[in-house]
Amino acid sequence: MTKTFDDDAQALPQLLAAVQAAALDYLATIDSRPAATDFAAPGLLALPDDSAGAQAALTLFLQRFGAAMPAANGPRFWGFVTGGTTPAALMGDWLASTYDLNLSSAANSNAPAIEFEAIHLLRQLFGLPESFGGTFVTGATMANFAGLAMGREWVGRQHGLSVAERGLTALPPIAVLGGEAHSSIFKALAMLGLGRAAYHRAASLPGDREAVDVAGLSRLLAAQEGRPCIVVANAGTVNTVDFDDLRAIAALKRDFPFWLHIDAAFGGFAACAPAFRHLVAGMELADSLTIDAHKWLNVPYDAAMIFTRHRDLQRAVFQNSAAYLGEIREPVDFVHLAPENSRRLRALPAWFTLMAYGRSGYQAIVERNCAQAQCFGAMIESAAEFALLAPVRLNVVCFTLAGAADAATVAAFLARLRDDGRVFLTPTVLHGTPAMRAAFSNWRTTDADLEIAFGALLACR
Ligand SMILES: *Cc1c(COP(=O)(O)O)cnc(C)c1O
Repeated sequence: MTKTFDDDAQALPQLLAAVQAAALDYLATIDSRPAATDFAAPGLLALPDDSAGAQAALTLFLQRFGAAMPAANGPRFWGFVTGGTTPAALMGDWLASTYDLNLSSAANSNAPAIEFEAIHLLRQLFGLPESFGGTFVTGATMANFAGLAMGREWVGRQHGLSVAERGLTALPPIAVLGGEAHSSIFKALAMLGLGRAAYHRAASLPGDREAVDVAGLSRLLAAQEGRPCIVVANAGTVNTVDFDDLRAIAALKRDFPFWLHIDAAFGGFAACAPAFRHLVAGMELADSLTIDAHKWLNVPYDAAMIFTRHRDLQRAVFQNSAAYLGEIREPVDFVHLAPENSRRLRALPAWFTLMAYGRSGYQAIVERNCAQAQCFGAMIESAAEFALLAPVRLNVVCFTLAGAADAATVAAFLARLRDDGRVFLTPTVLHGTPAMRAAFSNWRTTDADLEIAFGALLACR
């Protein structure tokens, strides 16, 4: 049995060449593969008793699943907000698996130094001051979880106790206030024991806006009667990419005690382009800040960053002391700063892509995607078959079928579109109207893709 391991180790050059060929074959066909598929899973396999080796596994995989692999990181997957993978990010990711380093401690490898450096590059990309520490987590949901966990600890400290030590039972309920929060905020509240019902929703600005009405938020804060709480601000709502007025919200701290968490999962990239930077003015006033990497940074899943100016609270929450892990030293190891203990070297793809393309590369991706969203929005607006539901503010076009479509009609249209394969969109509801979104956040998308996708939309209407 162990002979097969030895044989595979011997054959590694051929095996890696074979897997490279499979990857190149996928990438060469990424423009023509369906963006998404409704895959009917074959019957499940039995675990083999014998060891067939890696080449046999690759052959079987390609035969069972290879042809059906969708171009989810291709140029016309416009559902959710989904980035692709830049060439450099793919290189970094391959090496991350090759080295297979655990990022928990600086005492035994250079992995934490790589993460610190990647965070330092990201701080510069987003214009964040040095006072912000950053930590990689698996996605914006976990970043929101970590940010709200620190906020919870901060609220506890205002009452004179540590939630990390004593739990929540000695505290009055903690209110979480904000506007059009992402669904992952509610998931995080559920995981944190604060409860989904802890969220108090302030109204949005009138008209087609999704940004919070700061005066309304201020009234909700006043109703807390001096009790410390958490405010979640949105830097980029998913439907229409509206931005809360971050400076105005932060200024409310003069009158009310709160922890400011900013969810800038993809909207944070507005900082990369001079024309859009004003949208995130005040981002540096956050106590905790979420930015996704597997969206607009175009690194592979799964990666996001939680930034904070309060390392002490972060450590209080996530500290993992155990004799076998050794003493806590400065700089504090990531094992004491993140929800996970063992963590993959997910900073490496980010490091690669940032060093490969730099500030100007990310400015170019953001500007190009935003110009594409503008252009696609204009195509939708001028077509009798569709109705644009909001101005295109950044990189998402929110629209629906002309003539008061119900949710089922929109869903049926989107299923036809998926089956057509040229473009993939996901549904939403905007101010009660069943709708859909086209989100642009992939470096591969070209202007020609707009025409291809629009042709598919008309054909499926
Ligand atoms: C995508 C997104 C999230 C959740 O991100 P995951 O990476 O999927 O966990 C949270 N907030 C906003 C604004 C998002 O766009």
